[in-house]
Amino acid sequence: MSYVCMSCNREIEQIEGFVRCPYCGGRRLIKKRPSIPREVSTD
Ligand SMILES: [Zn+2]
Repeated sequence: MSYVCMSCNREIEQIEGFVRCPYCGGRRLIKKRPSIPREVSTD
């Protein structure tokens, strides 16, 4: 599962044990969601 840093918006492939951005040291990471097509009713 990959994460995205909220500070520098870099993608982080793997996090070992602790949650921290290896680029900027930010600790606010969000889980990158796989693009799921939304259910939209267009009728
Ligand atoms: Zn970062």
